[in-house]
Amino acid sequence: MAVQDLDSRRATLLRERSSLEHQLEELEAGHDTSFTFDDNFADSGQVAAEQGEAKVLASSLRHELAEVEKALAMIEAGTYGVCEACGNQIPDARLEALPTTRRCINCA
Ligand SMILES: [Zn+2]
Repeated sequence: MAVQDLDSRRATLLRERSSLEHQLEELEAGHDTSFTFDDNFADSGQVAAEQGEAKVLASSLRHELAEVEKALAMIEAGTYGVCEACGNQIPDARLEALPTTRRCINCA
């Protein structure tokens, strides 16, 4: 992959990482305030459902964040863009659409 493409992919991943970190912070901040709800007013079933949703969302954000970290580590290691299954170069168009993918379309 050309150096400028790699740089632009790294920039995309870094933006993605800060966006995910920001969303996680927001989620955790929002999560904390839910503990201050007055029991007389809050529908406890509703609160539990919202906390459950926040938990699911937080875990999927953490998963995405881990994928972004892995992709960034592969850029540093010089192995980014190589399919982990067959060893072929993953086409640029696919990396453009899915910057954290580690497999080519045939192996996905
Ligand atoms: Zn492959």
